[in-house]
Formats: sequence, structure tokens, C-alpha cells
Amino acid sequence: MPDPRSVEVGLKQFYLLRDFLVCAHCDSYFSGRLYRKQYRAVYYCPRHERLRDDPYSKNLKHCEQNAYLRIEETDDLVWNTVVDVLSTSHRYKEEIKLLTINAKGPQRDRKQEIAMLTKRLKAIGAERRRIETMLGTVEAGNLIAPDSENRFQGVIQTLKKEVDDLQGERVAMEKRIKDLENVSRWTDWMAEFGTKITELRQLTGEKRKDFLKGVVDTIRVTKTAPTQVQLEILFKQPFVEDLLVKSSDPGDRRKYKIEDGKSSIRIPLVLGGPRTKELSVPT
Ligand SMILES: [Zn+2]
Repeated sequence: MPDPRSVEVGLKQFYLLRDFLVCAHCDSYFSGRLYRKQYRAVYYCPRHERLRDDPYSKNLKHCEQNAYLRIEETDDLVWNTVVDVLSTSHRYKEEIKLLTINAKGPQRDRKQEIAMLTKRLKAIGAERRRIETMLGTVEAGNLIAPDSENRFQGVIQTLKKEVDDLQGERVAMEKRIKDLENVSRWTDWMAEFGTKITELRQLTGEKRKDFLKGVVDTIRVTKTAPTQVQLEILFKQPFVEDLLVKSSDPGDRRKYKIEDGKSSIRIPLVLGGPRTKELSVPT
């Protein structure tokens, strides 16, 4: 009998939710699999399967959760839920407003600053290599001809301190670059999607995935019955059922404020179709 995975067309296939679905039982990310001849595609916990016949994963904890989620159905359910949540979220609208205001000018400055920092990082690397070479030379000299007055020691200490300082500077710069890139990513994301909430339902494929990356952290899958799972969509912010309430603070010039909603929403998904082990394997 051929291994079912020999019919996997896994690698280049696009899976909307593969980087989001997490098995609540074992914390693994779900895999996706397509059975082309059966027009059937599923998400599943790889730890439930692999251990059966894969020697490489026999040391991994076996997962009992055998949930096979039909991809098309799961994608649609998650996508529609996310769009529903965001289209009624006041926080989401507020975020869009703020980011469109803030994002216009400084985006260019950020790119310039990243370029400048990257250049400086290279220079630091070169400087550090130069000092380390020097240090090596001095230390070797000290070994060959140790001087009784310890004149070398001072030089070595100074050079070592310079290397440490450069290292500190490098770490700080790398952090700054990362922060700038994060802001840029969020800003680009907003420029692309933020203002188009009404058009979201028309997005497809990769665009949907790019959008989800901006607002959804993970989706946890728990099997709740033999033919049902619960999907818990964890948002990056408390978008779910937030409220616009009258501000009770008399000093607040804005009359309304946003009361945080929840950061997650749970939705049931009925598992359909035959179980994998009952499938006939196409040849
Ligand atoms: Zn699992």
C-alpha cells in the first residue's frame, strides 16, 4: 500500500491558515494536505500522524487529537468571522484612523534611518574586526615576550573594552532597526488594507493571508466532539465586541471612548467527509 503522503502536494500549495492553526492538544502548528484526485484538502495535526510510521519523529510526543479540517470550509469560516469582527470593531476603526494620520509622513524617514543604521552596522563590524586583529597581535606579542612592567596589559584592556563597546552599540542598533521595521510593516499593512474594510470580503489567496497576519495571532483547534472542533481565533488586539461608551471623565474632550472587547472568539466547526484512514488512496 502506498504511503498516503506520496500523494501530498504539500510544499508549494497555498494554505491560508497553515501559519495560524495550532493544535490545542500538543501546540504544534497544523499542516495542510491536498488529495488532488479526490478534490479533498485538509488541515491536520502533524504529530497525530507522523509518529505512526515516521522514524524521525518517534521521539516526539504523540498527539491524540485526530481532527481533520476541510480546508475550504475552514478558510471561509475563519475569514468571514474575522471580517465580521473587524467590521463591527470600534478599536479597529480607531487604529485605521490613527495610523493613516501617523503613517503618511514618517514612513520615508524610517526607511532612511534603517538604511543609515545598516550602513553604520557594517562599519562597526569592520572596526570590530580591526580591533580584534590588533588585540590578537598584542596578546601574541605578550606571550612571546612578556614584559615585566605589564605595559601590554593596559593596551589589551583598552582594546577589549573597545570591542565590548562596539558590541553594545551593535545590539542597540539591531534593536532599533527591528523596531523601525515593525512599524513599517504595520504601516504598509495599513496602507494596503486598513481603509478598505468594505472591500475585505473580496480579497483572495495571498492577500487574505497578508491581511490575517496583521490582525490575527493564532487559531487554536480543540476537538469537542467526534465530528466537531472549536476554533479559537486569537486576535492581536481586543477587537471582539468592543464598545463605544460615553466618557465619564468630564475633562475628556472626546465624548466617547472605546471599551476593550475580548481578544479572542470561539467558533464551532463541524467536521465533514470521511476520515482519512477510511479513504482509498489514489494511485
Ligand atoms: Zn496535536
